[in-house]
Amino acid sequence: MTEQVVEHHTPMMQQYLKLKAQHPQEFLFYRMGDFYELFYDDAKRASELLDISLTKRGASAGVPIPMAGVPYHAVEGYLARLVQMGESVALCEQIGDSVIGKGLVERQVVRIITPGTVSDEALLSERVDNLLASIFMHGDRFGYATLDITSGRFLLSEPNTEEEMRAELQRTQPAELLYPEDFTHISLIGMCKGSRRRPIWEFDLDTAKRQLNQQFNTRDLVGFGVEKCSLGLAAAGCLMQYIKDTQRTAMPHIRTLVKENKAQSVILDAATRRNLELTQNLSGGLANTLASVLDKTTTPMGSRLLKRWLHQPVRNCTIINERLDAIDVLKESGMYVELTRALNPIGDMERILARLALRSARPRDIAKLRSALQQLPEIKMLLDELSDDSITPLKYASAPMPKLTHLLEEAIVEVPPVVIRDGGVIATGYNSELDDWRELAEGATRILEELEQRERELHNIDTLKVGYNQVHGFYIQVNRGQSHLVPPHYVGRQTLKNAERYIIPELKAHEDKVLNSKTKALAIEKKLWEDLFDKLLPHLEMLQSAADALSTLDVLANLAERAETLNYCRPIFTDTRGINIKDGRHPVVEQVLNAPFIANPTILDLNRRMLIITGPNMGGKSTYMRQTALITLLAHIGSYVPAKSVTLGTVDRIFTRIGASDDLASGRSTFMVEMTETANILHNATENSLVLMDEIGRGTSTYDGLSLAWASAEWLAEELNAMTLFATHYFELTELSGQISGLVNVHFDAIEHGDAITFMHAVQEGAASKSYGLAVAGLAGVPKTVIQRAKHKLRQLEASGYNVVTGEDIHLPASQLYAIMELSDAEKALIEIELDDLTPRQALDALYRLKALI
Ligand code: ADP
Repeated sequence: MTEQVVEHHTPMMQQYLKLKAQHPQEFLFYRMGDFYELFYDDAKRASELLDISLTKRGASAGVPIPMAGVPYHAVEGYLARLVQMGESVALCEQIGDSVIGKGLVERQVVRIITPGTVSDEALLSERVDNLLASIFMHGDRFGYATLDITSGRFLLSEPNTEEEMRAELQRTQPAELLYPEDFTHISLIGMCKGSRRRPIWEFDLDTAKRQLNQQFNTRDLVGFGVEKCSLGLAAAGCLMQYIKDTQRTAMPHIRTLVKENKAQSVILDAATRRNLELTQNLSGGLANTLASVLDKTTTPMGSRLLKRWLHQPVRNCTIINERLDAIDVLKESGMYVELTRALNPIGDMERILARLALRSARPRDIAKLRSALQQLPEIKMLLDELSDDSITPLKYASAPMPKLTHLLEEAIVEVPPVVIRDGGVIATGYNSELDDWRELAEGATRILEELEQRERELHNIDTLKVGYNQVHGFYIQVNRGQSHLVPPHYVGRQTLKNAERYIIPELKAHEDKVLNSKTKALAIEKKLWEDLFDKLLPHLEMLQSAADALSTLDVLANLAERAETLNYCRPIFTDTRGINIKDGRHPVVEQVLNAPFIANPTILDLNRRMLIITGPNMGGKSTYMRQTALITLLAHIGSYVPAKSVTLGTVDRIFTRIGASDDLASGRSTFMVEMTETANILHNATENSLVLMDEIGRGTSTYDGLSLAWASAEWLAEELNAMTLFATHYFELTELSGQISGLVNVHFDAIEHGDAITFMHAVQEGAASKSYGLAVAGLAGVPKTVIQRAKHKLRQLEASGYNVVTGEDIHLPASQLYAIMELSDAEKALIEIELDDLTPRQALDALYRLKALI
């Protein structure tokens, strides 16, 4: 802004510019009466983003000021939209009525709202985590910290490679990402819409430790086991600084920093998370995802927990079996039905507690917390009926809290108003002083009516009435015609056209009391409201543990319900490597199909490490591969799975190379993306990994592609020994089974009747015999004449010896054979010479030509 030579401006604009200078990155919402106004560049951008009209306000420093505004009562909606877009806002309010010279009202920034730090109910999506993250880098390694301010969950990790870092960002999907100004991996940051550059010194390790120790009230960070994580701590330190700057209040609910332990979880890279469509489909929506089928949780916090589980399957069988045991008990007893009903009023206890900690909870939050606490005895009663070890810790953590429940029952009215501002929140009977003042305020009219009646009768003045106005306060009014009847102790206050107004000592005394009583009651109420926070906050940790336990119970009851309703089975974990699925189904496809889903087996073990899957397009290959991955993943979150039975050893990673998508954000073509993902798999897969490879090598020429697919398959099967499902259109790959042990062909079939084609969707042993490409193209609506022409061309190719089927030796035209054999020009020329047809002279010429080719 060139307008910033502050002295040239009107006093109000000077005030604005000073405040704006303190908040250059945020939209400054400047309160003027019933509006929040934005000026200059803020106004221009906001008018575009929010579709509000851009106007001008007079002129300051000789130039008209661009301005846009929103009404104060509708501000939440606009804030929500800006935050959604990754923008931040500084809300500037008029402070009381204090005037600071020249009629200018004092103003202050009272709240800063940023996408990663919002805790207001209205600005958040209920069923999605909202994270603030911070990233740091040194050498090739990264430090990464995330904070969910709405729960206090504060985690750090130290990804070793760019790929791992990408996977973390993909998993956590931060709403706001802080990065140092010298950060070089811009493609990583591009994934996040609310990214903020921060000065390098905010990532200083010593400052970080000091900041964190201050927050946790500790002397060092050894107790958290993070003392040595210098990269992660640098990120966490910047995050802590940022959150302190924006919140400007204590945050007692943030009391630990936990290092995420990669060894405990099944690692999913960024592509796999995307491809398996866990919580988001490939187009970024929520429909037809694993979560859309599985998530019928009753509380928003349960829904968020389930999604965290889906994104972080665990490898620790004790944890998995505990969850499975609990689901088992809830399912077999049918208790999940009643438990779900009892959990419903618990609501979003987790986020309410965060607002309590930030002292921004509203009266209805506290009323909801009361409803939650009132449910605890019933939940305990239900859990008492289940005597399984897997349930016991949850039962203890969510035990009834009679004292706190009682406190809230006493303190807050049944249905409180939205805000404390006008009072009416604290219940009658909670505080006698408040009750007295309230009674006075309410009883005032009754006393006045009595006084009016009495005076009228006493002095026989039927026009006498008691009234009130802002300037003169209470008065007794008598019509001019009867004013001679008023007694001497009436003191004149005001003369009107037709009436006289008087005051008497009794009314004056009452006036003082009444006028004060409302203000007094409100002040007392606000104090009691603050005191209530002080009474609740010492129990915050216990309340948070209860909220955690209740979320877990919600997820377990939900998974029990899903298992029952969708006919899932309990997976059995063994110590031996391998996956054995009987009648497996795809959890999402089976829900959206109109036709019955054909269940299929998957057997992978030491002697059957790789399945080469062939079959027509639309035959069911992708569905089959994905269902195997999803069943494996579900088993590792401790859920029942869509199959008749499943036995498996734990896997360390799940990799997928599926489909093709350009990653335009980072400027990589389809083929480049495919090869980067393939490279990642070939570098990192182990014998305990599950790898899905779908049609690799399609983005380049046939022989390049075939060769790459061939070599990758060999590497996976022979060197890495990974458990691999390898779907391909290169029938040539089916030959590999004869060469490598542990590699097996399976296929999907179709039946053609005339021009129609039926897909069988049942996996069979052995290689496919036909690709049905033309039939599928016909099905897709490719014009009949084009199909006819293609059939003709196919026959020509077949006649020329080109192998379009599978499994047999390849008879290729010489030119194509040379390409795959990688022959030199001289060798090719040599092959083409028909020796018997040459004259001696031609033979000599040929020899010269060959020599020239070398
Ligand atoms: P491919 O990868 O072989 O081209 P897909 O796995 O994409 O085939 O499957 C194509 C369609 O066939 C799916 O969208 C689904 O409607 C149907 N399908 C796949 N597998 C099954 C199955 N096991 N039972 C029923 N329908 C299936």
